[in-house]
Amino acid sequence: MTDTRSTCPYCGVGCGVLIESEGDRITGVRGDPEHPANAGRLCSKGQTLHLTAAPHVARQTRLLHPQVRAARGAAPQRTTWDEALDLAARRFNGAIATHGPDAVGFYISGQLLTEDYYAFNKLAKGLIGTNNIDTNSRLCMSSAVAGYKLTLGADAPPACYEDLDHAGCVFIAGSNTAYAHPVLFRRLEDARRARPGMKLIVADPRRTDTAEAADLHLPLQPGSDTLLFHGLLHLMLREGWTDTAYIAAHTRGFEALEALVRDCTPARVAQACGLEVHDLVTAARWFATGASGDPKARGATLSLYCQGLNQSSSGTAKNAGLINLHLATGQIGRPGAGPFSLTGQPNAMGGREVGGLANLLSAHRDLADPAHRAEVAALWGIPSVPEKPGLSAVELFEAAADGTVKALWIACTNPAQSMPDQRTVRRALQRAEFVVLQEAFATTATAGFADLLLPATTWGEKDGTVTNSERRISRVRAAVPPPGEARHDWRIVVDFARRLRPGHALFPHETPEALWREHRESTRGRDLDITGLSYAKLDRDGPQQWPLREGDTQGKARLYGDGVFPTPDGRARFAALPHRPLAEPREPRYPFSLTTGRLRDQWHGMGRTGTLGRLFGHVAEPAVQLNAGDMQRLALRDGELVHVTSRRGSLVLPAQASGQVAPAQAFIAMHWGPEYLGGRGSGGEPLAGVNALTTSARCPGSQQPELKHAAVKVLKA
Ligand code: SF4
Repeated sequence: MTDTRSTCPYCGVGCGVLIESEGDRITGVRGDPEHPANAGRLCSKGQTLHLTAAPHVARQTRLLHPQVRAARGAAPQRTTWDEALDLAARRFNGAIATHGPDAVGFYISGQLLTEDYYAFNKLAKGLIGTNNIDTNSRLCMSSAVAGYKLTLGADAPPACYEDLDHAGCVFIAGSNTAYAHPVLFRRLEDARRARPGMKLIVADPRRTDTAEAADLHLPLQPGSDTLLFHGLLHLMLREGWTDTAYIAAHTRGFEALEALVRDCTPARVAQACGLEVHDLVTAARWFATGASGDPKARGATLSLYCQGLNQSSSGTAKNAGLINLHLATGQIGRPGAGPFSLTGQPNAMGGREVGGLANLLSAHRDLADPAHRAEVAALWGIPSVPEKPGLSAVELFEAAADGTVKALWIACTNPAQSMPDQRTVRRALQRAEFVVLQEAFATTATAGFADLLLPATTWGEKDGTVTNSERRISRVRAAVPPPGEARHDWRIVVDFARRLRPGHALFPHETPEALWREHRESTRGRDLDITGLSYAKLDRDGPQQWPLREGDTQGKARLYGDGVFPTPDGRARFAALPHRPLAEPREPRYPFSLTTGRLRDQWHGMGRTGTLGRLFGHVAEPAVQLNAGDMQRLALRDGELVHVTSRRGSLVLPAQASGQVAPAQAFIAMHWGPEYLGGRGSGGEPLAGVNALTTSARCPGSQQPELKHAAVKVLKA
């Protein structure tokens, strides 16, 4: 038996794993006791990874050969790699020649490795000359990116997991950490056992298992987070709990924020958020003082936050509102203190690092900045990087639906289930003249729409790196050879690029490490500088945090300890962004607030976790969870079928009374796809999963859609 050290491919905790293999078979998996993220622990998903790679599962789920459809709706036929890549190059070149480079678009994934991501970004922006490349990280972390940049000056989470061991108060907002980041939650539980005085506050409309564990649960109304943060700041100012010395020495713009929160009185905020005034006072005191109760002897406060803040039509304001609290109380740059966004996907961070979003360029550069464009053009040895902003995820599919984008290349993601407003996504995939899907799994909903299917390798089969939530870069390693004719994602990009523009010199790479070295050079002098890092160092010393500059022996555990921020004057900025109401508040015709979220034992669209019966032991089938009072009012019995209907579509599923859900709210898990949860769009078209209901309304600052909330009605079926 061979042990191969690698990383779990699921959530952004980024746990290290030891893959056990014999020959070309993965036979087991163990937590890596030497990985700093998990010290040997794995959650239910990580522990069963090897079972998802079993031969009988792979035979049913994997895409093993290139396949092409002669016509939409026809069964795909096996083809060769040469024919597949020639066809892709011909169709993409045709669309570009007729309509220009912006007639094509790439939709990629936070589950790709950094090397894959880098190659895709260079292909679109460097070789083809379009910025139409976006990723499912847009659905996941783009509000966190916008919030960090607006306030702290760079997209860099300032804290680390070890801060849990120093925090006096942990404030969790919009995250069911117990389910979404389980190993990190175990670490929080350890820290609380070790220091029983630590306080845990959880702000969440649902009484999740995370909220159940809290010392103080703030069951705020969906969408009222910004108002909550402004209200807490109002209280901190009133009680003298802010850190005036820190504000004066290290920040700008506090006066405007002070004016903004002046009318966010406890009574008004409590009423609008659906909270008690005394709970607001307690939360403000614990947060400001790190639960010491004394601003002169401040403990440390760490905030953990995720999609409840990000997946919102005011995601930037919510992120900034929380970071404002840290800056106003000096709760940043010290052990145990700081705002800490938890990454949803395993490598959303790596994607941000290589500039894999439509508005970014390599190494946290901005597309809108002419100097940054010139730097990247020089690095790539091309005359220029196109100036025109690319289309963000939702815009890209809207453009395909209206016929502007003609050819789509989708890699390692399943937009026909995971994007909001599935009506539009379906129209986009039907209207696009050519759709390529580069995937490991043949079973995704998107596969049914693809003209060309390209088999990709996946966990246990590929090499590269990922970056987890705490800026820690880990190696991903192959334990077994690729199955069938599957190729590595970066390899597919390189092979396609060489056929698209024969004779160019942009893709000489023959290994993932060659791509990674180029990415490393692009970070020189940037906030995420990793010029002191190498594959050899990662192999020798294990996972490392960035920045890690040339000459450094190790990276930085936490940022901004010197009070200097990556802004022109070195000061952080308060962001005075007002509360904005939900894109779609509930109203008499749609009287329920639908929220969405994760289950403990499933991952995304269940392509991998859905293959194991044991992972259905926790939750066996889809249901809409409702408050018991609402069930009674609607004369619904547990398990009775209901129509859940939004302005865009309707689903039929069992109703389930839940003590976690407040009155006038409803909850449906995000994972269930067409095999489990059928429905109809408002035009009668077949749609499936909770995103038949969700809205594509998005945050103007981050372009992240409001996947977390839609107004719905619930009627007996
Ligand atoms: Fe994998 Fe996340 Fe579970 Fe760790 S916590 S084993 S990274 S799913």
